[in-house]
Amino acid sequence: MNTSVAAGVVIVGAGQAGGDLCGALRAQGYTGAITLIGDEPYPPYRRPPLSKAFLSGEATLESLYLRSAETYARQQIDCRFGIGVERIERKSSSVRLYDGSVVPYQHLVLATGGRARRLSLPGANHPNVHYIRNIEDILKLKEQLLPGRRLLIVGGGYVGLEAACIGIKKGLDVTLIESLDRLLARVTAPELSAFYEKAHRARGVKIVTGAGLHELQGDALVDAVVLSDGRRLDADLIIVGIGMIPNTELADAAQLKVQNGIVVDAFTRTEDPAIYAIGDCCNHENVFLGRRVRLESVPNAAEQARVCAAVICGKPQPYGAVPWFWSDQYDLKLQMVGLSEGYDELVIRGDQDNESFSAFYLRKGILIAADAVNRPQEFIVAKRMVTDRAQATAAQLRDEATPLKTLAGLPKPV
Ligand SMILES: Cc1cc2nc3c(=O)[nH]c(=O)nc-3n(C[C@H](O)[C@H](O)[C@H](O)COP(=O)(O)OP(=O)(O)OC[C@H]3O[C@@H](n4cnc5c(N)ncnc54)[C@H](O)[C@@H]3O)c2cc1C
Repeated sequence: MNTSVAAGVVIVGAGQAGGDLCGALRAQGYTGAITLIGDEPYPPYRRPPLSKAFLSGEATLESLYLRSAETYARQQIDCRFGIGVERIERKSSSVRLYDGSVVPYQHLVLATGGRARRLSLPGANHPNVHYIRNIEDILKLKEQLLPGRRLLIVGGGYVGLEAACIGIKKGLDVTLIESLDRLLARVTAPELSAFYEKAHRARGVKIVTGAGLHELQGDALVDAVVLSDGRRLDADLIIVGIGMIPNTELADAAQLKVQNGIVVDAFTRTEDPAIYAIGDCCNHENVFLGRRVRLESVPNAAEQARVCAAVICGKPQPYGAVPWFWSDQYDLKLQMVGLSEGYDELVIRGDQDNESFSAFYLRKGILIAADAVNRPQEFIVAKRMVTDRAQATAAQLRDEATPLKTLAGLPKPV
């Protein structure tokens, strides 16, 4: 048994949140031992390019890494990559790794992210059925993106749509199926769904909505699928983008509260004062939203890393950041801020036909969310307005002659 490390901060999961936490701890003055343990054989890396520039071959492997090897060494981060944590021993304040070594902790941070939700149909394990969650997935998939091949994408969320875009760029014959009646149904308004459906169709993607996957056909490889409406589609390869499942098993086994993620307060703390959870794996109390939420985004992982580091350094500040996200498809840059659920009015500013516009979501006259397509400047202002819970009328927001920033200073409601 190896118990060689002085107890300090132990981070389980070397992804976006775990990597950012190392930097945030040192930046906020933490001088104790930091051990970063990740089961992937890579240092922490950015996942967004996995369905974008890394899949298309435009980004190198090294360009994905959050920080250089020298930075971890300089900041005295004890990195253990390629080995997972098997369990948490709360009684002895330590974690046991799969190689039998034991690492004691004073503070334990779970940054275990999530894994791709898999199809549960016979044939789902055939080698031409692909997922997009980690580097290994892309190394396998990239080779298969050859011009003329028939690519079937299951799922019309961001990952599916970004993969469709790369498929088209690479000259494949792309069909995307979505079981709900519109694309991006869980995250945006019908108007945005219609815009994205039109944009993808115009660039050559065949789209089927309102039909799920019923059957995968083929022996060693899947060569066709049958949809729930009985349609049969031939395919050379399949990409499945049907969401992720948070990795909460370690927390569960350690009898920490888990409910759609590891339950933490606004300071990233679980009910065990020595254990924290950050990033995709946690369900946190969000001061801005006034409720619990589990978010899957880089800004969320980075902000939670900052909040967690502040708590560990004895300078607690609650997590109150407004959620935001982006997605790149073809030449369309989508940036979204706030959560649009519960909106009672949608206002479009700009021209959808020119593929440059913003969508504003209002509830009782207050801006609760905005989506900007190819309007990065407007997005910056919209982000501030959503953060400030700005009031605006539909007429003001729609009127392009009124610069958005002049609306940003409107008084807040009492
Ligand atoms: C294809 C794709 C595209 C995306 N695009 C965008 C985008 O455009 N914009 C955006 O904001 N967000 C995007 N995201 C989401 C974003 O990447 C995630 O929200 C972010 O990576 C979450 O960081 P995390 O550290 O919580 O989890 P992860 O990055 O998933 O890292 C968790 C790590 O913990 C490891 N781990 C799990 N269990 C253990 C264990 N027991 N022991 C050791 N290690 C363990 C995992 O293997 C993994 O390496 C995208 C995600 C994907 C998959």
